[in-house]
Amino acid sequence: ASVKSDTSSRCVSLSGSGSTDSGGRGDSLDLHNKHPDERWPRQNSLSMKEWDIPYDELKLFEVIGTGRFGTVYRGSWHGAVAVKVLHVLSDDCVPLDTFKHEVATFRKTRHENLVLFMGACMKPPRLAIVTSLCKGMTLYTHIHLRKDKFTANKSVIVAQQISQGMGYLHARGIIHKDLKTKNIFLENGKVVITDFGLFSVTKLCFGNKLVQSVRGDSLGIPAGWLCYLAPELCRALTPHASLHLPFSKATDVYAFGTVWYELLCGEYPFKSQPPEAVIWQVGKGVKQSLANMQASRDIKDILMLCWSYRWGERPDFPHLLSTLQKLPRKRLARSPSHPVHLSRSADS
Ligand code: ADP
Ligand code: MG
Repeated sequence: ASVKSDTSSRCVSLSGSGSTDSGGRGDSLDLHNKHPDERWPRQNSLSMKEWDIPYDELKLFEVIGTGRFGTVYRGSWHGAVAVKVLHVLSDDCVPLDTFKHEVATFRKTRHENLVLFMGACMKPPRLAIVTSLCKGMTLYTHIHLRKDKFTANKSVIVAQQISQGMGYLHARGIIHKDLKTKNIFLENGKVVITDFGLFSVTKLCFGNKLVQSVRGDSLGIPAGWLCYLAPELCRALTPHASLHLPFSKATDVYAFGTVWYELLCGEYPFKSQPPEAVIWQVGKGVKQSLANMQASRDIKDILMLCWSYRWGERPDFPHLLSTLQKLPRKRLARSPSHPVHLSRSADS
């Protein structure tokens, strides 16, 4: 049963003029009569139309799932897509400029390990992001629901691809802000990272709600979210300082460390500890113990570096990638049982 979105509505142009999506197209022929200084804004607004998807072109089918800030539908727009409709509490909290700015940066992302961003829709007070539909399952489903075991070698291959995608994002100046196993798909062995950079859009829509739920009501805390937060983020989680959490490339690297731990151990760090205890410990620099972890020293070293208390001591993704690429070679020397597979991953 297909539920078509409201056809009477039109997308608001995100070029800032407030016109509808067809408005202004007719006078684009005037471009060459304009003073050179006036051409750039017009060209920018034209290029923005590429990702400004009118609601009436979009079909929404069943709900795939509901996350913290929105509902994801299977949809259709020139083929199968995923449509994330962000729930916004009221009209006046729609951060149009922030949305416009952030979505403009997603449009520039082209990488094998990143979900394909196709466009955005806006019908106040609703915002929607359209991406390619990921096949396969998330790492979260593999690790925590299906309890699939990732060998060290497979973990390394997955981590290398995450580092590649994240290194690309960072080189483009985009901070993910919500790197977690629920946002990493595995499609026939290929990693696809989703939901980059969306956190601040949703954060603006939700205002203080997020942190109130974190501090005030343990049940309001999304399971397995806190363990991705670097110490500087945990310390910033106060009821009054929620809008400016100090996300950075280094907080993404910390989150990657948690993903690396989940891959290797099959569970979250600080498993079954109450949120208050996790916030307090991480904020003070306490790390999940690795004493019971069955892994080589160099694998644990990566974890400890990513989880460094001081952000400046955490490696960046290109560095992580080269460290990870060296691991299989070392393991190969010890265990020559899968030489073809390993040498390929090490050289790629
Ligand atoms: P979360 O990431 O916290 O699970 P989301 O709102 O991002 O919450 O996702 C809700 C559901 O939709 C999840 O089951 C997620 O796997 C799925 N989903 C999100 N994006 C896509 C996509 N591009 N393709 C397929 N499924 C997706
Ligand atoms: Mg997600």
